[in-house]
Amino acid sequence: MDKRLQAIAENFDKMKIGVDEPFKFNCTMCGKCCKGRTDILLNPKDVFNLAKELDMAPIQVIEKYCEVYVGESSRIPIVRLVPVGPYQICPLLKGNRCSVHNAKPTVCAIFPIGRAFSLPVEEAGNAKFSGKDIQYILQPITCGDKRKEHTVREWLSDFNIPVDDQFFVDWQTSVCRIGASIREIEKTFPESVMGQIFNLIFASAYVNYITTQDFKEQFDKNIAKVVELVEMLPKKLGDFYKFIKENGGGDSDE
Ligand code: SF4
Ligand code: SF4
Repeated sequence: MDKRLQAIAENFDKMKIGVDEPFKFNCTMCGKCCKGRTDILLNPKDVFNLAKELDMAPIQVIEKYCEVYVGESSRIPIVRLVPVGPYQICPLLKGNRCSVHNAKPTVCAIFPIGRAFSLPVEEAGNAKFSGKDIQYILQPITCGDKRKEHTVREWLSDFNIPVDDQFFVDWQTSVCRIGASIREIEKTFPESVMGQIFNLIFASAYVNYITTQDFKEQFDKNIAKVVELVEMLPKKLGDFYKFIKENGGGDSDE
């Protein structure tokens, strides 16, 4: 975890802000937050919004601007905007302006607000979580000025993000459930099979969308299939691969 995220995690309770609490901030569009950043992660909706805005397919956006890797602790594919050049500038910054203002990634859009959803792993399969469980924080403001006042609700609505964003809850819940199953099956499944499983999660979560159709409906269908598959695998194939591993089978260099 980088130092900025570590500081937020450690001070989360002190930074909490209610959805109708006011805060003062005015972005002066200096572009500084788009330079030297290696932590702009995209969720599936961000990729979809960018694809729609840029009139590209989701996979084209990812191939042109991002890298994909498996998260060390989440164990799911992560999509990250790759900064360019010696000053590590976001590839979507043109001049000092964000070229995708209306579709900018959530993490950029909601700054200086941050959000989190506390989800104990053991409760990941429990459907009781809703958008009302999302908690908001006001991050330290070291840029812009304080000439404008907003509530969290108003700030998010400028980017069409509801304060009880059900997509955010569903995505976080799915990440938790998929990660829990992956950690389990990684103990026995061969690397080659894990690679195929990661590809399938990546394609279903981030890539397989038609941008002229509703995002959430497609996301719900795609992610439900993935969750079902990874939760079924340990039961169906786990014993099989365990048997192979214990009896001298598995991946080979030959
Ligand atoms: S997507 Fe836009 S706001 Fe976010 S870092 Fe890139 S240029 Fe800046
Ligand atoms: S959020 Fe802050 S650093 Fe980023 S463009 Fe606005 S004022 Fe500048």
